Amino acid sequence: MAISDQPIQTNALKRRGLMFVLSSPSGAGKTTIARKLLAEDGEIAMSVSVTTRPMRPGEVDGRDYHFADRADFERKVEDGEFLEWAEVFGHLYGTPKAAIKAGLKDGQDFLFDIDWQGTQQLYQRMETDVVRVFLLPPSIAELEGRLRSRNTDSEDVILGRMARARAEISHWDGYDYVVVNDDIDECFAKVRMVLEAERMRRARQTGLVDFTRELMR
Ligand code: 5GP
Repeated sequence: MAISDQPIQTNALKRRGLMFVLSSPSGAGKTTIARKLLAEDGEIAMSVSVTTRPMRPGEVDGRDYHFADRADFERKVEDGEFLEWAEVFGHLYGTPKAAIKAGLKDGQDFLFDIDWQGTQQLYQRMETDVVRVFLLPPSIAELEGRLRSRNTDSEDVILGRMARARAEISHWDGYDYVVVNDDIDECFAKVRMVLEAERMRRARQTGLVDFTRELMR
């Protein structure tokens, strides 16, 4: 067989995983997009955070969060076990370091549902591995409509959510990509495009030297 007919070794196309941060004000569709991404893309897994907040009905320890008490959480902070951590609405949340670092090395991508403070810390520590995507509603009226259509909350709760949403939107400039969620399918397609393009970044493709050498033989 001629050299050029030899199959290319697929391990030459290995790449380092990336950290895909998806943030948005509540009501802008983050949960739906995140679920679709996890269901349809086999190379990305959710990063499971540690939290001190009580478990909610339906949540599973180890799947939704690793639930911990405050003393345990503070010990982990002291031992340097978190890539980032923050206090959100009176509870502590943190991203465990060991599993993420090992996964990235293996080419595993991770999806992060963390707040803007966590995103900033993550970026400061792991800049080249982090891709930050922010989803925005098409208008504030649309966001309010979506929050109201849930129909389960009192006026006070809705006004509180709207105030928080405005505060979250103010952090838009801390992200690499901003996608307006006008139509959920279009928004999902755009988020996937970002993920696919980021996977092809030369710096993430660890096997390119061997792969291109093979192509040029
Ligand atoms: P919830 O308690 O509703 O699941 O989450 C509350 C907030 O905590 C959300 O804004 C979520 O993005 C944020 N959060 C969850 N896990 C982490 C984490 O590991 N680090 C940071 N900084 N924020 C987190």
